[in-house]
Amino acid sequence: MIKKKREPHSIMIHGEKGLGKKTLARWIAAALLCERQTGEPCGVCRTCRMIADGAHPDVMVARANSNGNYIVDDSIRPIVAEAPVAPNEARMKVYIIPDLDLSVNTVIQVQNILLKVIEEPPEHTAIILTARSKEIFLPTIISRVLSLGMTSVTEAESMACLQEKYPATAPALISEAVSAGRGNIGRCVEYLEHSQFFDSVKLARGLCDAMCGGNEYDVLKTLFAADGKKTLLREGLSLFQEILRDSAAFRLGGESEKSVSCAKEGAKTLSRSLSSDQAVRLYDIVSDYIGRIDANCNISLTINSLAGQIYSVTGK
Ligand SMILES: [Zn+2]
Repeated sequence: MIKKKREPHSIMIHGEKGLGKKTLARWIAAALLCERQTGEPCGVCRTCRMIADGAHPDVMVARANSNGNYIVDDSIRPIVAEAPVAPNEARMKVYIIPDLDLSVNTVIQVQNILLKVIEEPPEHTAIILTARSKEIFLPTIISRVLSLGMTSVTEAESMACLQEKYPATAPALISEAVSAGRGNIGRCVEYLEHSQFFDSVKLARGLCDAMCGGNEYDVLKTLFAADGKKTLLREGLSLFQEILRDSAAFRLGGESEKSVSCAKEGAKTLSRSLSSDQAVRLYDIVSDYIGRIDANCNISLTINSLAGQIYSVTGK
């Protein structure tokens, strides 16, 4: 696309967290600005290196506040005002506006303000928007941008990519990360770097094991590992929901190659003792409790109550 010189001025990249939307946005910026102009970044020219370091004056990444919201007067209106101004040194300038879906308060306002630049982009300006879902974009924006959907990669591709990125890491550990993050490289990396995702996976797998063991106390004990840690509990529970979804799929369809969770084997074991109806009920219960966590309910009370609810579905 860039090779053929049909340069898109407005691009939207959508796909779930961790698939590399921001990395792709920077890659496109480098492809547009690279001094060699081959259609992809050469990776060695001064421009490419500066972009990789996040230091190029013609590649601007908009910043949201700590809640993910864009304050339009600070970060979006200036883009519209500066768009017609010539680039500092490159042939074009690129504005990247990441994670638009997280800007819950201003997601529509941001698009309405940007519409002017997206409708009539100056020759030397490109805008790249990223979001987890395409749903959040206004039809007027969708009809004017090039839309790039990111999909997950296969386990073999994840394996190859991680081995290259972490040559010193034991293959067994990489394989563990691949099964935790599935086709989502960002998640695999978080797992290897022992960030919160690692603990969330541990929580979700622990819940699955505790349920397979059929011990109510183990369920409670596992949940209490996240006491006082709202984000961990929330993420662990959503991963656990994926295990429940897999479990129901195994129960209904037998062998499922389309596993979505971080614990394929665990889900298989769970499906032997959990009917698909129970799995669906548990899924809904967990959704309800995630809502309570978001509404800032007391974490300890929430955990106690959730453990009781889980038992009421599975207990004999
Ligand atoms: Zn280059």
